[in-house]
Amino acid sequence: MIPVTQYNGHAVAVLGLGRSGLSAARALKAGGATPVCWDDNEDSLTAAEAEGFLIANLHADHVWQEHNFAALILSPGIPHLYPEPNPIVKLAWGHGVPVDNDVGLFFSVYLDFWNGQEEGDEPWPEAIAITGSNGKSTVTALIAHIFKAAGRNVQMGGNIGRGVLDLDPPKKGMVYVLELSSYQTELARTLSPSIAVFLNFSPDHFDRHDGRGGYFAAKKRLFEKSAPDRMIIGVDESEGRFLANSMRQDGNEGHPVTAVSVTKPLRGRGWSVFAEHDQLIEWAGDKELARIDLAEMTALQGVHNQQNACAAHAVCKTLGLTSDEIEAGMKSFPGLPHRMEVVGRLGNISFVNDSKATNVESAAKALGAYQNIYWIAGGQGKEGGLVGLKDYLPNVKKAYLIGETANEFAGLLGDAPHEMAETLERAITLALQDADADEQASVILLAPACASFDQFPSFEHRGDAFRAQVLALINKDK
Ligand code: ADP
Repeated sequence: MIPVTQYNGHAVAVLGLGRSGLSAARALKAGGATPVCWDDNEDSLTAAEAEGFLIANLHADHVWQEHNFAALILSPGIPHLYPEPNPIVKLAWGHGVPVDNDVGLFFSVYLDFWNGQEEGDEPWPEAIAITGSNGKSTVTALIAHIFKAAGRNVQMGGNIGRGVLDLDPPKKGMVYVLELSSYQTELARTLSPSIAVFLNFSPDHFDRHDGRGGYFAAKKRLFEKSAPDRMIIGVDESEGRFLANSMRQDGNEGHPVTAVSVTKPLRGRGWSVFAEHDQLIEWAGDKELARIDLAEMTALQGVHNQQNACAAHAVCKTLGLTSDEIEAGMKSFPGLPHRMEVVGRLGNISFVNDSKATNVESAAKALGAYQNIYWIAGGQGKEGGLVGLKDYLPNVKKAYLIGETANEFAGLLGDAPHEMAETLERAITLALQDADADEQASVILLAPACASFDQFPSFEHRGDAFRAQVLALINKDK
């Protein structure tokens, strides 16, 4: 845990007592502050109380007068501006209390550590912050894995695994690898990674950011707030190209941007990492610096994973790993559950769990990575519609539609073969019947392009249900 001493001797309001809220409360307490906690959920309150935290209803104005809070620390799930600020955030504004989050607290500690070091007293601890619409967790886990395999002291957290304040305090030689969501980057008062990654950009979370521009601004803030030493930017969408251009400085000397692409070879000025014909190519000035065969990376299949590999390569190279070390790490990377996870095989049928494909963009990547697909799709819809999937339909043999959006998917599919399956369980049964009768090798793919909340508590539950049913089917056949 990282003690936060910034509010030593002061009361700090903590709203939201999930993983990050509780770890913020612990870190503040360890640093000498008095956290005063609240959550609208009874169970969370009981758990925090059992841990000895002071509880007070932050909805009550008198609580703000009594405690004279130095700050309000907010959990990422709680809206701070759109679609409507949480009433407790409004109280903080009214009382002139700064609002921050665990990521802001983390970076203020990290910055203090840096400022306390003697010039030239290297190696510093490094903090790599990863943002983007899709692939953040994969890239974060991949980078952490490569560094670990190369024998480095790695601390991975943020939106994945442990909360940032649950990590170990900064020390020399340490590498923090942090996945940050747009909710976190929009609010954090201090954001000072040494390396920042912007992977890609597609429509998501528009309600929390009041549209596309707000969502982009939240991500861009990671770069604009503190100008990291190196910025690794995916330039396959206009937003990435705009960001790379605005962060670029003239000439190659001290050029802080590394451009990443999987749609075009970037043999231009500056430093880039791109994928071409399944090869990762690192390019600087007018020279090829490294080449890695990505076809061999079993847990990094599909063009989208090539983007992830290119970004990870750029990060690891920046921090001094060799191409051989990076290649070895990529090869031994086991992949993450629910992201194109091959959960089993039955004859010539592969079962792939991509439950994390909660938006059109990520589902399209999975549909593009396979052929002869029996596709399970649908759930709770998101903004932006389904048209982004149209180009990939030739890879789909038949679709099995579930959840609230089943009719919308049926509209997209038109005359293409599809069936209303309603539930995941039935979809798997129907898909297996059809795939079984198919002589060609095929893939039964769960890539819903939708959130899970209409039928499951989370995408993890949905993926776990898929895996459990598939494993039961496979084992029954043994
Ligand atoms: P995030 O943490 O940003 O949600 P994940 O690594 O958990 O990203 O992957 C989310 C979904 O997006 C998965 O379905 C995965 O297969 C897909 N995906 C992974 N990397 C990319 C990428 N670079 N571009 C588009 N989709 C991706």
